[in-house]
Amino acid sequence: PVISAMEVIESQEVDYSQIGGLDDQIREVSESVELPLTRPESFVRIGISPPKGVMLYGPPGTGKTLLAKAVAHRTNATFIRVVGSELVQKYIGDGAKLVRDIFEMARKKAPSIIFIDELDAIAATRLNDTNGADREVQRTLMQLLAEMDGFDNRGDIRIIAATNRPDVLDPAIIRPGRFDRVIEIPLPDQTGRESIFYIHTDRLSIDGDVDLAKLAKLTEGASGADIGAIVMEAGMFAVRQNNDSISMSNLVEAVDKVISAPDIINDPSL
Ligand code: ATP
Repeated sequence: PVISAMEVIESQEVDYSQIGGLDDQIREVSESVELPLTRPESFVRIGISPPKGVMLYGPPGTGKTLLAKAVAHRTNATFIRVVGSELVQKYIGDGAKLVRDIFEMARKKAPSIIFIDELDAIAATRLNDTNGADREVQRTLMQLLAEMDGFDNRGDIRIIAATNRPDVLDPAIIRPGRFDRVIEIPLPDQTGRESIFYIHTDRLSIDGDVDLAKLAKLTEGASGADIGAIVMEAGMFAVRQNNDSISMSNLVEAVDKVISAPDIINDPSL
């Protein structure tokens, strides 16, 4: 059962072109993850060591997972995804072993990208590490750091971690040779939102008068995931009305519905 905590995907379908508004971040991730895998000799020639690990931080639903998958796709690397909170909740007593298994698998299936989502669940600073559960999490983190320190950074394993809570991370995690590249993945600005609307509607049947720039204006503060939900909702309205395509009014109505909906998952007051 231990192996089921990680998801191993040998080929990814996500491409950089499906990620909106993150051009600088795409370039940075591609330089620090893709180049070491595709042109390791450049690093040898110049004499610098590529980063072993890259940390992506920012609000939920902004494209961190998408970006990690797209890099794996570009490099033809095996993509191994682990979720920090699952590691902690489901594998009590086994977290450290699971981390060992993950790196073992990554070596076997190299080139590999290990993607650790919700890194904060295993790498938060603990103020009172007195109880057993905390100590267990601590052991899992120690094993992760040991594995990272142990592998050769000229090799073909890269680690990408994602978090919404960079403020709570143990500083040991971002020491040189560990997650030494830290990249912010922010909420999209207006241009970013427009291109995300474009990406999400590109293959759909859409009325000619749909104004993506206007939709981007109406959705200040929305994440890429919110925009995906808006387009899906607009599609549902069109289906319900038995129309042939999605209209601007379907989209505007969907903006209202998605943006004003209470976020029962992330709002602590609900
Ligand atoms: P979390 O922190 O909640 O894990 P995340 O940042 O990893 O979130 P993703 O899982 O990458 O977010 O995004 C969820 C979905 O939202 C994507 O599958 C995609 O449909 C949409 N999305 C998010 N960001 C973007 C973006 N920049 N461009 C296009 N689509 C996006």
